[in-house]
Amino acid sequence: MHVGGDTPTQQTVADVRAPLIEVEQLTRVFGAGEQKVTVLNGLTFCVPAGSLFGINGPSGSGKSTLLHLLTGLDRPSSGRVVFGGEELRARTENQLARWRGRHVGIVFQFFQLIPTLTALENIMLALELGGAGKFSRGQWRERGMACLAQVGAADFANRVPAKLSGGQQQRIAIARSLVNDPAVIVADEPTGNLDSRAAHDVFDALAGLTAQRKTVVFVTHATELASRSTAGIELLDGRIVAQHGGATVIPESACS
Ligand code: ADP
Ligand code: MG
Repeated sequence: MHVGGDTPTQQTVADVRAPLIEVEQLTRVFGAGEQKVTVLNGLTFCVPAGSLFGINGPSGSGKSTLLHLLTGLDRPSSGRVVFGGEELRARTENQLARWRGRHVGIVFQFFQLIPTLTALENIMLALELGGAGKFSRGQWRERGMACLAQVGAADFANRVPAKLSGGQQQRIAIARSLVNDPAVIVADEPTGNLDSRAAHDVFDALAGLTAQRKTVVFVTHATELASRSTAGIELLDGRIVAQHGGATVIPESACS
């Protein structure tokens, strides 16, 4: 399985039953000497392709740190992340940035939309930054609208973020995460800043992406949301204390 290169390979990745992400003995230590903190301690698990994968745990348990390692935004102190059969640590920062742009869609807790751009412009910008993949410039608007429609947000295309509710903004952010047709969508506390009704709406929109063969990895401290995952792990103090749905922890050869 190959995730790099210039041809869109998302379908290929989702089609394969093998795990999309394999994590082996992953450890992240910050600081040195007396200040040394082991934030993640020897995690081994896998994210099955096509799963709605929940990473659950209380604040400070290492969830965000783990997401940063899974997406190559940060590097492990030891251990490894194999994504679609390829090791992230083999890549340079530039390669990682390009790879992320094409293969990972990211959704943040605070939406991170650009306030001066409309919803559609925010999405078209992400398309441009992601290299635009298989879409020519003439197709960008149509592609952006298709992604908005996918999350039920087509009516908001021409509004700036300030004219949208939190839930609406997060749906725009989900549409943005889809625009380069990545195999995996990663969301860090995507409903953490929403009231419960908007939270459910947004979570449903995210969960629905697995029907389109996306793998969705989400972080939450809400056990209620975590219980909707099809696979997942629970973290406490940087260790896995529970897992379900094929996130099997097998020491040595992680997931095969
Ligand atoms: P969560 O997302 O589960 O709330 P985090 O991954 O953000 O947890 O943080 C886990 C622990 O790691 C916290 O105690 C935090 O203070 C610490 N931590 C995170 N990033 C750093 C860093 N860059 N340097 C030092 N400590 C950090
Ligand atoms: Mg966090």
